[in-house]
Amino acid sequence: MRVLVTGGAGYIGSHAVLSLLGAGHDVLIVDSFATSSPRVIKRLEALSGRVLHVIERDVRDYEAMRGVMASWVPEAVIHFAGLKSVAESVADPALYYDVNVGGTVSLLRAMAEIDCSKIVFSSSATVYGTPEYLPYDEAHPTNPVNPYGRTKLVVEQLLGDWIGAREGRAVTALRYFNPVGAHPSGEIGEDPSGVPNNLMPYIAQVAVGRRPHLTIFGDDYETRDGTGERDYIHVMDLAEAHVAALMHLATGERMQIFNVGTGQGITVREMVRAFEETAGVRVPTEIAARRAGDLPRFFADAARARDMLGWMPSRDLHDMCLDAWGWQSRNPGGYDAQEDAA
Ligand code: UDP
Repeated sequence: MRVLVTGGAGYIGSHAVLSLLGAGHDVLIVDSFATSSPRVIKRLEALSGRVLHVIERDVRDYEAMRGVMASWVPEAVIHFAGLKSVAESVADPALYYDVNVGGTVSLLRAMAEIDCSKIVFSSSATVYGTPEYLPYDEAHPTNPVNPYGRTKLVVEQLLGDWIGAREGRAVTALRYFNPVGAHPSGEIGEDPSGVPNNLMPYIAQVAVGRRPHLTIFGDDYETRDGTGERDYIHVMDLAEAHVAALMHLATGERMQIFNVGTGQGITVREMVRAFEETAGVRVPTEIAARRAGDLPRFFADAARARDMLGWMPSRDLHDMCLDAWGWQSRNPGGYDAQEDAA
């Protein structure tokens, strides 16, 4: 299929591009490189053995997106481009609505110009908010507790309206749990700018010596060991879920929503221990107060994706740690610390 991938140079997008190419799809990456590195592209080309089609554009630029649609004429779009920091969304909600919601509006309008009717959207488990029961299934009420989560929910609602407006439209929204790890080559991975907000890149940066210790945000939760519990999913499993989602678009005109997680909760201490054992490196920790807005625990009911997409995660906690460490130890300073010639 001819696929347009927005945000294809980002953490999840770049891994998905590899899986899409591996499955025989033609890919055009559209990325503003606002939060990703252009150096990703060379790595993807080396890994795939293909010359990639890449256009540097911001999805909010409607005129530019019209031009891109007219020249590439995708059969489907996979929409990763967006901002994802909860803290930043609290500090600057208008920016989050502009990029995440405004970007999708512009994209959908440009798609309509060429009658492109299929889209896979990067949503998030944050749309659920405080659990009324666990595991969250897709029917769980949605009540996001921060602006970031609300932008994801607004886009899901927008997509629900969008499919109803014209026959033949199909949407698959994937609600990601906690993506971690990297491609097993260690050539691409998660490269947050500044201090990482998320647990795994923080652990990896401590392990490689960039930061002195991990701060554990709270050890007094009602969980097995008092630390927060999440459903971590290997980014390559998540990437493969997008290939399955793309295929699924052809089967109906509806809006389908899927959780993408393993269904298994892992605590912060369990993750630290697994990482230490896998990497053979000590990760010092210090306990601090709970982080504002954090939920104690949540994890997915992933049965729907298994039953309807035929997708199942195949990588375990060991693989997540091994590949996160493979990426970090080969690229201690991330992409932009590397020389072009390297
Ligand atoms: N966490 C932590 N220290 C950190 C980053 C995260 O203790 O430096 C904890 C956090 O409180 C949560 C878990 O690790 O319990 C996962 O956090 P992350 O930000 O990766 O994911 P999210 O909270 O958005 O699901």
